[in-house]
Amino acid sequence: MSDQPRVTMEKLTALCKSRGFVFPGSEIYGGLANSWDYGPLGALLKNNIKQAWWKRFVEGRLDMVGIDAALIMNPKVWEASGHIGGFTDPLVECKGCHERYRADQMDVTKPCQKCGKSGLFTEAAAFNLMMKTWLGPKEDASAVAYFRPETAQAMFVDFPQVVTSNRQRVPFGIAQVGKAFRNEITPGNFIFRTREFEQMEIEYFIHPDSWKESFEMWLKEMHDWMAFCGIDAARIHDLEIPDGERAHYSKRTVDIEFDYPFGREELYGLAYRGDFDLNAHQSASGKDLRYTDPKTNEKYLPHVIEPSFGVDRTVLAVLLSCYHEEEAPTSEDGKTETRVVMKIPAAIAPIKVAVLPLSKKDELSSVARALASSLTKRFAVDYDETQSIGRRYRRQDEIGTPLCVTVDFDSLTDKMVTVRDRDTMKQERVAIEGLEGYLEKRLV
Ligand code: ATP
Repeated sequence: MSDQPRVTMEKLTALCKSRGFVFPGSEIYGGLANSWDYGPLGALLKNNIKQAWWKRFVEGRLDMVGIDAALIMNPKVWEASGHIGGFTDPLVECKGCHERYRADQMDVTKPCQKCGKSGLFTEAAAFNLMMKTWLGPKEDASAVAYFRPETAQAMFVDFPQVVTSNRQRVPFGIAQVGKAFRNEITPGNFIFRTREFEQMEIEYFIHPDSWKESFEMWLKEMHDWMAFCGIDAARIHDLEIPDGERAHYSKRTVDIEFDYPFGREELYGLAYRGDFDLNAHQSASGKDLRYTDPKTNEKYLPHVIEPSFGVDRTVLAVLLSCYHEEEAPTSEDGKTETRVVMKIPAAIAPIKVAVLPLSKKDELSSVARALASSLTKRFAVDYDETQSIGRRYRRQDEIGTPLCVTVDFDSLTDKMVTVRDRDTMKQERVAIEGLEGYLEKRLV
């Protein structure tokens, strides 16, 4: 994958908009800065990623369970976790045009990017990223609540519940997938940094003695997951956060970074959090959150390894990694043309099979439509009868459909169809009768 010229953000966002992966939200009202909607293909891709993650890390392991907690939690949770006091970014403001920036992401000795004046920034002030709201009709201090800035805290707060109700034994993990909100000072770079986004997080509870093995196990799991998603390994880098830069309670943190077109930035994070969170909630709630080992009777606060995955950054890294441009022969005269192909792994590709009648004529389209409709019971199927077959293949290549099934006039008599492979463009004649089984095999 890595010898390909890499796609630019301009090209990728244009394709995402034209094909219905991701486009600006509320566009008929002029949009809303940095708000993006996932269109039909983007929603399929994103859901496939979340489902595959859940299957792999929750259903696919005996030491994991999943929860789906309330998004708005008791504000005391955020006091105990340190978010109300310390979940801040350093904010500076240009004294000329009042544009605001994150001080750690810019050079205050350089001119303001907006108005071009230099040396006119305010002192950095801590800006809290929590999104605030009020519950009920009174907008006073007693009604203040927060949209969660991460999914993680529910896994700590629900820890004793899950241990008793589901008879979990340490080591085990609790996972959750869902929305998180942060009032980011400088959102941007498409879906990389937004104020509303989704996370897939795991809190893996362990005996303190085994943190090193568990950390290594999760680092490998995260890399295996990225390979499964088709994320280009050559663009992935593990950044070991050095002493002094890690949170005080963490003995090891790795930021998994990705080479985006706008630079090397975080994709995922893996942190050893010690017993910081359970300890904080134990002190603040006054509830005993310790775990009793059923074999040894040792009573202790488990330590935690936290693998944290951003859903939207996964979508972005998948699209950036899977976008390819290739020279391919045109059907007519042997000349070549540039073909754009999204080599998204079949397991997460938005559409698995496209059914294409060679012509719009009734006798073909009725057979093709019936075939498409029966295949929808097993796969996400697209049916397309407009334009030339070459153009329809190109469209399916661009949206990453692994297999195209073409119904032609011979199909009416020989009861066979042509199956075309997205990546090799090889075509094979397959009997309609065994088609479902054939596709199943090819797509797994
Ligand atoms: P960054 O340094 O990029 O702000 P972070 O270290 O604050 O990220 P975490 O708090 O570790 O991020 O959140 C876990 C994951 O959630 C990140 O690795 C990323 O994938 C995702 N994430 C965090 N903030 C955003 C955001 N504003 N938009 C989209 N995804 C995000």
